[in-house]
Amino acid sequence: MSTPQTNFIGVYVSGTQARAALVDSEGSLIQSQVAEVTPKELIPQLAAVIEGLRRGQSIGAIGVAIPGLVNRQTDRVIAPRDLPPTITSNLHGDLMRATGIRAELENDANAAAYGEFKVGAGRGARNLFYMMIGNGIGGAIILDGKLWTGASGFAGEVGHITIDTEGLQCVCGNTGCLETVASAPSIVRRARERLNRDSTSSLSRLALNKSFTAEDVAHQANEGDDFALMMIERTGKYIGTGVASVINLLNIERIVLGGGVMDAGELILNPIIQEVKRRAFQPCFEATEIVAAKLGLDAAPIGAALLARDANAN
Ligand SMILES: [Zn+2]
Repeated sequence: MSTPQTNFIGVYVSGTQARAALVDSEGSLIQSQVAEVTPKELIPQLAAVIEGLRRGQSIGAIGVAIPGLVNRQTDRVIAPRDLPPTITSNLHGDLMRATGIRAELENDANAAAYGEFKVGAGRGARNLFYMMIGNGIGGAIILDGKLWTGASGFAGEVGHITIDTEGLQCVCGNTGCLETVASAPSIVRRARERLNRDSTSSLSRLALNKSFTAEDVAHQANEGDDFALMMIERTGKYIGTGVASVINLLNIERIVLGGGVMDAGELILNPIIQEVKRRAFQPCFEATEIVAAKLGLDAAPIGAALLARDANAN
């Protein structure tokens, strides 16, 4: 008789949404689910999502990805951003009590990197750098097949490398971080500023929509709107500048670029690669493959589940 299969659950909690994935022991997605959550009721709501996927099956562990920094030694969350107290107080302990299953917490970019590494665009590489470019910009490093989280768990914060020494104040306290020019809200801010001061840009369809998003900028660029295309290309240059530094520092085998901003596809990937080529040390550039992520929004929950699976092995 064969033993029953043990599966794993990963949950990505961001804002008012929890995105959960049930995966088998090889990391194949069995089922995913999205639920609305509220900060106050977070623990019972997460427990309900997990129970909904569990349905009496054997679950080896739960991985939880959050948009904050996690100290893996203490399993506590250190939050530079506005995370609710249900996350920052004792999410790890509360969730284990509520579900009776071992839980592991991880930063969202680390989790997404691990998902791409194991079953997505990072497959086959031993070393990779992952960037998640969305509302913020996160990054993660996989060295010799393992997530390398640094001295205290915070490695890979590529969104906070300085791109413009005279730039705007960032949430981290520094000025001119990559995140202040290339995150989704920063793309919208830059586009607005330019629409306000440059009369030729009023030809852009974006000028007709007062509350456009970064997604709209990408969409209009795809539709052939010159102004939107220029905004996407400039964003690509900023990201490429950051990626060039990563390549010079790590001589890494593969760069995987994910997050909502990368939904612009080739329109943003090509200027990124051009800028990296222009700026990176040539032998490092030639040794690196720069690719778009493959798992989309499931990267973080799948990666969190696999990190939980491998937590005891590593
Ligand atoms: Zn910063």
